[in-house]
Amino acid sequence: MAAFSRILLKLSGEVLRSGEECFAPLRLAAVAQALVSTVRTGVQTAVVVGGGNIFRGRNTAPDQTRTEADHIGMLATILNAGMLRFHIEAAGARCRVFAPRAVPPLAEAFDRRAALAALAAGDVVLLGGGTGNPCFSTDSAAALRAVELAADAVLKGTLVDGVYDKDPNRHADARRFDSLTFDEVLRRDLKVMDQTAVALCREYGMKVVVFDITDPLNLVRVVTGSLQGSVIHSGRAAAH
Ligand code: UDP
Repeated sequence: MAAFSRILLKLSGEVLRSGEECFAPLRLAAVAQALVSTVRTGVQTAVVVGGGNIFRGRNTAPDQTRTEADHIGMLATILNAGMLRFHIEAAGARCRVFAPRAVPPLAEAFDRRAALAALAAGDVVLLGGGTGNPCFSTDSAAALRAVELAADAVLKGTLVDGVYDKDPNRHADARRFDSLTFDEVLRRDLKVMDQTAVALCREYGMKVVVFDITDPLNLVRVVTGSLQGSVIHSGRAAAH
């Protein structure tokens, strides 16, 4: 029995990288397999794909304007979506790729009703191109699309197993939260998602579940309830 009926996964581009390889075939295949297994549990699955394995606007040379760099970053997310679709189809599932503007033949223009129909039909829905606007991130795109598609939650796959009060890789005494509020994330300035994304989720009461996606099959464990990530919500704080 799945814990969710419709999820919006925020997949960082870094998950597709291995060492110097932007598109690591084994990583792509593992993520694709996890997505196919997730839709086979009956959970409608939309994915906002990042681009950090290829290009991030904020990391560019100072003589390139941020706006132009961000457009290149958004294109990188569409490349990732295209690569991922190839692997999802190879793993035996149907897949649709949407972006804010059509990028034929890689992506069709995002249309909420078409995306909802594809989800209902059991297709994996990949959302490339972020919000379509510079100065945003794919975290914000994930929050936006989760609200538009009325997902149960944003599932944010990261390299650690949840939200900590400080970096667990640097501080042995870092404490993990089972659950916490958006207000707490903002007050403690926790680097879980960018603040625009946190503000949007908070305003619309969109729950965020942070979990470790180093093993992509953890996605299946989270949607089936056998793995608990850290849950960020708008209600009372329940941090331990
Ligand atoms: N980006 C953007 N607007 C958006 C989403 C993304 O301009 O709505 C650009 C931005 O330059 C960003 C890059 O696309 O650095 C890749 O996205 P992101 O850094 O969020 O990818 P991730 O870190 O999740 O792999």
